[in-house]
Amino acid sequence: MSDGIQDKFKPAWSLQNWEAFDDVLYSALSHEHERQATGLELIASENYVSKRVLEACGSLFTNKYAEGYPGKRYYGGCTYYDQVEQYAIDLAKRLFDAQWANVQPHSGANANLAAYFALLEPGDTLMAMSLSHGGHLTHGSPVNLSGKWFKSVPYGLDVNHRIDFDQVRDRAKTHRPKLIVCGATCYPRTIDFEAFSSIAQEVDAVLMADIAHIAGLVAGKAHPSPLPHCDVVTTTTHKTLRGARGGLIMGCREDVGVKIRKAVFPGTQGGPLMHQVLGKAVCFKEALEPSFETYASQIIKNAKALAEGLMDRGFKVITDGTDNHLIWVSLLDRTTLDGREAESRLEEAGITVNKNTIPDDPRSAMITSGFRLGTAACTTRGMGESEMGAIADWIAQALSSESAEQLNRIRCEVKILCASFPIY
Ligand SMILES: *Cc1c(COP(=O)(O)O)cnc(C)c1O
Repeated sequence: MSDGIQDKFKPAWSLQNWEAFDDVLYSALSHEHERQATGLELIASENYVSKRVLEACGSLFTNKYAEGYPGKRYYGGCTYYDQVEQYAIDLAKRLFDAQWANVQPHSGANANLAAYFALLEPGDTLMAMSLSHGGHLTHGSPVNLSGKWFKSVPYGLDVNHRIDFDQVRDRAKTHRPKLIVCGATCYPRTIDFEAFSSIAQEVDAVLMADIAHIAGLVAGKAHPSPLPHCDVVTTTTHKTLRGARGGLIMGCREDVGVKIRKAVFPGTQGGPLMHQVLGKAVCFKEALEPSFETYASQIIKNAKALAEGLMDRGFKVITDGTDNHLIWVSLLDRTTLDGREAESRLEEAGITVNKNTIPDDPRSAMITSGFRLGTAACTTRGMGESEMGAIADWIAQALSSESAEQLNRIRCEVKILCASFPIY
């Protein structure tokens, strides 16, 4: 690699102090920097935050306890924490057109836990998308608290791999769930929140949307909002929304807001991570800028282009395309290639994806017959539809050959492309 290209990958800040401090930590940090700078990030749940979000998360806001809520803290010295948290709440409400927002959940899983704690009793029935059809672990999986403490009724996809609303309605009528969750971790199509809402009303269930994956698309007006149709909305703030790693809960019903407030603190959490709350405030402010809508719509244009590119090269894309940031590839037609092998081969080629089960996958979750791609991170880097063609080419080449030489050559080409789209 020429020095000219190497120069483009200089860290955004100096790591010199780390080198003198500790070999293990310095090595991990500098290698991770290089991995992010020189590789293609296609994991659907990942992104690159702005330098300002990074600064917020690494700021001295990490030094303080602020248990409680703005104006009602259990510790002194919270003046500026009150200001920041209230501001984050106001920005979140504005961004999503919500009546209330809680910015304290440490993560998406914590946001869901707090919502269940607020709205359900142990043993109540919770209905959500099954893990094997694209739901999240926290949507009633038997290994998760949500599946152990509640009676979990899963729904799934129809033969065309779209949400099976007939099944949702049938099962809702049979099992009368107290809470229905809509939203997924692997679903490439628009979610019809209105359809869920009418079913929830028919069976008198509370409706929760978990928009962890698509929050950035909703904020950027590239996906319909669940807010007018759902009683409560949970999300992560670090996937397509591109903010500090964390969770957020919001809604329009005041009575639900009061329950959520108590369920987050003191119900399920202690002191909030105020440096992360500061980072969320930065993210919400960034997402309110008009350029965020351009980013959100470009994510989808890129995903459509990448899906087309892969289908043109013979890949089976589940639902034959995408409406959002996510592309779900099935390898069922490739007898010699499974998801695990695809993931590791692409990693050798400098392309990060994750193996993913496909609906009714004959292989185990550790092996899988598919993989999942997302275009949020590469869109943040500034890549567009023309880069998606090159990426589809590399994926096809890497998965058609095991030759180390070929994978190395792709890795070099990936690095050259990445040099033109610096992260920081
Ligand atoms: C990622 C995700 C979560 C969990 O978020 P964490 O921050 O990893 O806890 C919850 N729900 C859905 C739908 C997700 O995709």
